[in-house]
Amino acid sequence: MAANRSTVAAILVAAGSGQRLGADVPKAFCPVKGRTLLEYAHERFAEHPGVRDVIVVAPADRIDQAKALTGAVVVAGGATRQASVAAGLGALDAAIDTVLVHDVARAFVPAAVISRVIEAIEAGADAVIPVRPVTDTIKRVDESRRVVDTVDRSTLVAVQTPQGFRRDVLLAAHAAATHAAATDDAGLVEAYGGTVVVVDGADESFKITHPWDLILAEAVAGQ
Ligand code: C5P
Repeated sequence: MAANRSTVAAILVAAGSGQRLGADVPKAFCPVKGRTLLEYAHERFAEHPGVRDVIVVAPADRIDQAKALTGAVVVAGGATRQASVAAGLGALDAAIDTVLVHDVARAFVPAAVISRVIEAIEAGADAVIPVRPVTDTIKRVDESRRVVDTVDRSTLVAVQTPQGFRRDVLLAAHAAATHAAATDDAGLVEAYGGTVVVVDGADESFKITHPWDLILAEAVAGQ
């Protein structure tokens, strides 16, 4: 069966403070080899042939800076990631039927991952997430720091972005959201009763969170 062509917008969420990184600017505005993480992430989507629009969600006091760095449509974020995504959804053009939500903290996402997410939506999925196998052994612990059990790693995946959605499904899931702090959008679709499928992510899509990650980012940016 031939897949439907989609009209895609990417919402890049960049309104977090990034406190764990310990930098004196919000994470998205942190420089790596002379360019901000926002510029690296924006370039990946702006240059992707399958993406029509890019919307950046920035801290309210950095909207002008984000516009100057990207030339994209920029809107102010909210207090939580979910509120920031909702702000981006409010800026979508009427023609958009597929929405990618991406953390700017994953500044080096390869084009192939963006393509896989779009293709899965075009093949009929309502929601799609890129994932990697879990390599650490995972244990559940209680408040007293005792191990409760060891989780079967073979059934687990680590979730990356961009997460892709049919626009109507994501809007409905956001409208129905009852808990204010989902850490990803697919979680809202799951809670709403939707089906989420997975595609392969990539090591380069690692999330820049701690100072250590900046060393890796320098290496990837220099490739
Ligand atoms: O804090 P964390 O690293 O989980 O944030 C993931 C992404 O969500 C980051 O790109 C961050 O800029 C964004 N975010 C946001 N608005 C918030 C909190 C996080 O856009 N209020």
